[in-house]
Amino acid sequence: MECATLFIVIPCYNEEAVLPLTAPLFLENLQKMIRSGLVSDESRILFVDDGSRDATWELIRRFAKQDRHMAGIRQSRNRGHQNAVLAGLMEARDRCDITISIDCDGQDDMAAMTEMVQAYYDGCDVVYGVRNSRDTDTFFKRFSAECFYRLLNWLGVECVYNHADYRLLSKRALAALAQFKEVNLFLRGMVPLVGFKSTSVYYRRSERRSGSSHYPLSKMISLALDGITSLSIRPIRLISGMGFTVSTLSFCGIMYSLVSWILGRAISGWTSTVCILCFISGVQLLSLGMIGEYVGKIYLETKERPRYIISDRTWEEETHAKKTPSAKEMEN
Ligand code: UDP
Ligand code: MG
Repeated sequence: MECATLFIVIPCYNEEAVLPLTAPLFLENLQKMIRSGLVSDESRILFVDDGSRDATWELIRRFAKQDRHMAGIRQSRNRGHQNAVLAGLMEARDRCDITISIDCDGQDDMAAMTEMVQAYYDGCDVVYGVRNSRDTDTFFKRFSAECFYRLLNWLGVECVYNHADYRLLSKRALAALAQFKEVNLFLRGMVPLVGFKSTSVYYRRSERRSGSSHYPLSKMISLALDGITSLSIRPIRLISGMGFTVSTLSFCGIMYSLVSWILGRAISGWTSTVCILCFISGVQLLSLGMIGEYVGKIYLETKERPRYIISDRTWEEETHAKKTPSAKEMEN
């Protein structure tokens, strides 16, 4: 069989500290795969600069000049990890047979790529990179991740346990993924919906090589909320159920207070009134908030904003070096 062309898609956001360390490793890993005849010489590492404010883009440009196996695109501004990965995948789609997305910080074991590509030759269109332990994580991250996966499962969202965004996708799977037009992206929940034959490859996740995580608690919560509300409508149903139960209970409460009043026993009702009032208003606010979350999502989806906007490509710089750099290209 003719060997496939692989594009390794690597999102980078303010990674000037880590890129000089990991880029040579990525390159070495790719060249090893090319030399062994696993992937074609047309294979590339595609860095996606997610609107970094530091020297990341300059570094990527330098890499692209150094070796033709490295290239880069730049988003016109910071749009977040998921959008950066998607931008890279869609950009790579027409130029390769398979893509592997991986973080740039060297936490995910690059050596697992060989096994992933092998699985592709064995007929898989989707190969999930799954970490086999979480011993490099803090207790809090481990605990919150565990709860999150359980919650997602319970909500009916299909998600591969301990899989983040290290995965192989075939051209066919990419074409299918391109048909998912949603703006609120949660790729690890979307990819299982694409279907096709899939498998998992296990690897050990290590510490970040340098720099620090861009996923503080607030971003993690926001990703988790996106994951839930963009893939499951079960919370809305739950709220309807809760509303029904609370209404029934309230009705009983009203009956009880009326009877007490008729029997002349309604003297000190202050505590219960306050309790009920608080409870009901709490539930109402919670429900409104949850519904608001979905309404917000609908609002964003109806806008049909582009999911990413690429402002620069390293290979375009080579061909028309004098072209106005502001020529922005919009893609969906
Ligand atoms: N990243 C990105 N845009 C962002 C935040 C992060 O492209 O707005 C990239 C980042 O450069 C890295 C990957 O996403 O390659 C994962 O981020 P990070 O390592 O900070 O997250 P963690 O591994 O701690 O979950
Ligand atoms: Mg990381």
